[in-house]
Amino acid sequence: MPHSRQPVGQLFIVSAPSGVGKSTIIGKVLPSFPRLRFSVSSTTRAPRPGEIDGKDYHFLSVEEFREGIDSGRFLEWARVHSHFYGTDRHIVDKWLKAGSDVLLDIDVQGTRMVRCAHPSAHTIFILPPSMEVLEERLRSRGTESRDQLAVRIAAAGREIPEAAWYDYVIINEDLQEAVEDLGAVLRACTCSRTARAGALKIFLSSLLDPAL
Ligand code: ADP
Ligand code: 5GP
Repeated sequence: MPHSRQPVGQLFIVSAPSGVGKSTIIGKVLPSFPRLRFSVSSTTRAPRPGEIDGKDYHFLSVEEFREGIDSGRFLEWARVHSHFYGTDRHIVDKWLKAGSDVLLDIDVQGTRMVRCAHPSAHTIFILPPSMEVLEERLRSRGTESRDQLAVRIAAAGREIPEAAWYDYVIINEDLQEAVEDLGAVLRACTCSRTARAGALKIFLSSLLDPAL
């Protein structure tokens, strides 16, 4: 029996106000973690230039999203910046059962819902160095209208206090440092005693009872 195999994968949740740099950081970390699967969310917001359906998001109509809510498709869903966003329950459950670790990029409301279903999930909040820098990053990304910019800055003011309830907090000032910090958190969690419980049990039981 392979000693390094975990029976169930671990769940990681990353949250941050829009524009902090969450997608940029996750995109740089994922290639170093081949066992980590990224859950592509569904949303009713329009694709930004360059965003690909099925890779960045599953872009749904409001009707399709509501059908998803009614049929229990979503592990969690929330209205964020006046659009719907949600996580596919089926795919997350399938990956976790197969032993893959799963990363969700979801807002603070969704995190609360997932924590109820998966209390052992590891939660990570990414902060900007300051509100001024956050506003500047959102502005210079050039993807939001003036109205959406104001909506997202106001939402950031409500979301940031929630960082106090997360397991880990990363400050995205220097991008490389933030990428290393997220990698370090993921690595440490996958090496924790509880994460390695299956492998440990096999080794320890065979050492304590050599007949096994
Ligand atoms: P989010 O996914 O949190 O909404 P993005 O990943 O789209 O944010 O990043 C927002 C903008 O900030 C992008 O233009 C990105 O290139 C830039 N950015 C991200 N991290 C940093 C950083 N550490 N320093 C400077 N610019 C950054
Ligand atoms: P954006 O429109 O900038 O891609 O994302 C806006 C916000 O929606 C971000 O805070 C992001 O974390 C959140 N978000 C993305 N996908 C999901 C999801 O599936 N569920 C929830 N609750 N929030 C999401």
